Amino acid sequence: VLEIIGVDKHFGPQHVLKNCSLNVAQGETVVLIGPSGSGKSTLLRCINLLEPVQGGSIFFRNKDITHASVEPHKLRQDIGMVFQNYELFSHLTAAENIMLAPMTVLGVSRSEAEAQALELLGKVRIPDKADSFPDELSGGQQQRVAIARALAMKPKLMLFDEPTSALDPEMIREVLDVMADLSAEGMTSIVVTHEMGFAKRAANQIVFMENGEIIENATGEKFFGGDVSLRAQRFLDQIL
Ligand code: ATP
Ligand code: MG
Repeated sequence: VLEIIGVDKHFGPQHVLKNCSLNVAQGETVVLIGPSGSGKSTLLRCINLLEPVQGGSIFFRNKDITHASVEPHKLRQDIGMVFQNYELFSHLTAAENIMLAPMTVLGVSRSEAEAQALELLGKVRIPDKADSFPDELSGGQQQRVAIARALAMKPKLMLFDEPTSALDPEMIREVLDVMADLSAEGMTSIVVTHEMGFAKRAANQIVFMENGEIIENATGEKFFGGDVSLRAQRFLDQIL
């Protein structure tokens, strides 16, 4: 569903993505790992057209989205993104946060949007929090509302950028569980995370980036079977 072919990205003199290629098939979960500054967030942002690329192509559902005719806001209706800081609308309840985009962007009726919001809150395992405001929720619960909000647009691809790195340890698990559920249901996802337990559980591919390059791309089996490059192994030794 996503083919990244030879993508190059510069920030001024800095070459941040170097000839990056990656294929993500429908239903796959790809875990993206690598040191700070290696380009993981930038790669996700390019997929979502939050950043332009200077070379290469990105095909999403067989269409080159780096082409000037592609409208970023249209593309983002099909690509959900969840960041480290969930940034919910603080003056809206959990349900209202989830209902907003379907109603304003897709023209879904309030009652339909509300029914969907309640269903999604069940899916992310907080069915009783519909009327809570963000500041009445734990970090893990807020992050799950953010995931439900992204899912409300029925995305074809989900991008997660370190979704648990701002959370207290006891809340990480509940967010990863929801993400693993999504993977098991066949949601195509790219997840930047250093939670290797999640990678083991959910990843079809594990991609290791360093210094703007995709150094390694392995199946979970191969990767956790110890069949990894020296550079990837050195990185793993640091984070584990
Ligand atoms: P981390 O693990 O710390 O989140 P990362 O792998 O996500 O790191 P990126 O955020 O993609 O790394 O950054 C890759 C490189 O691009 C870094 O050297 C960073 O300083 C640079 N960079 C990122 N965004 C910008 C920007 N808007 N302007 C200039 N340079 C940037
Ligand atoms: Mg990052």
